[in-house]
Amino acid sequence: MMMNSLTGKVALITGASRGIGHAILLGLADMGATVVGTATSEMGTKTIHAALSTKGYAGGGVIMDVREDDSVAKALAAIEETYGAPAIVVNNAGITADNLFLRMKMEEWQAVMNTNLTALYRVTKPCLRAMLKAHWGRIINISSVCGLTGNPGQVNYSAAKAGMIGFTKALALEVASRNITVNAIAPGFIGTDMTSVLNEAQQAQLKSTIPLQRIGRPEEIAAAVCFLASPGASYITGETLQVNGGMYMQ
Ligand code: NAP
Repeated sequence: MMMNSLTGKVALITGASRGIGHAILLGLADMGATVVGTATSEMGTKTIHAALSTKGYAGGGVIMDVREDDSVAKALAAIEETYGAPAIVVNNAGITADNLFLRMKMEEWQAVMNTNLTALYRVTKPCLRAMLKAHWGRIINISSVCGLTGNPGQVNYSAAKAGMIGFTKALALEVASRNITVNAIAPGFIGTDMTSVLNEAQQAQLKSTIPLQRIGRPEEIAAAVCFLASPGASYITGETLQVNGGMYMQ
């Protein structure tokens, strides 16, 4: 990774209080970016501030609920005032609400769509204006292997994650002439709170389907984000990078 190659850039990472988003926060900060991570609670923003200040990185944490228009607007206004407009946006915040489709409640469908997919509209659109003006931007969307393969019990999640890939390709086409790249990452199974709900037997079963024979680490997704944000990835757009230990190869 090119050290300090993102110096002078402001990076926004949604859902950076823990898990994959937190690793992305630290990865981009390590490349010199001023990083702003979001959380849904005061405690989450404190975790972000503490992690950054321990390492002497520039940036901070803000409260943002990606399901709410007002919350997103308020957070983006505060970010612009304090740090400047983000040139790098990582849409990472996400949830699951699993159920077999026949049992799936409308609330489970809506919650997953709203948090994982509609949030891309809410967060990305207002951030695009400054990127268009600057003729430089990086938008990186954290999708999932489930968006490519489907997963039983996750019709809502798989649909949202596949939707993120369609969003990525269409927006990439719209903004390419302004030197803005839009890419997605499709992680496989990564060890975070999201996957800690699986019991030992489920984890062992899962590992048996992964050629690299282990669950991935958040830092391994962060490394892919750092690459896509780096100058070395300036000719890559509309792509979905699979980081899944070989469990699915397109
Ligand atoms: P996680 O550990 O559960 O963390 C989720 C993050 O999203 C937290 O920072 C959380 O903030 C934030 N978040 C949740 N709801 C939000 C909302 N309404 N508004 C704003 N932020 C919200 O999850 P993870 O495993 O790191 O997953 C990160 C992304 O990777 C997700 O999009 C997920 O779908 C995707 N992914 C994960 C895996 C995996 O195996 N872990 C695999 C493929 C894709 P709070 O702390 O404030 O709640």
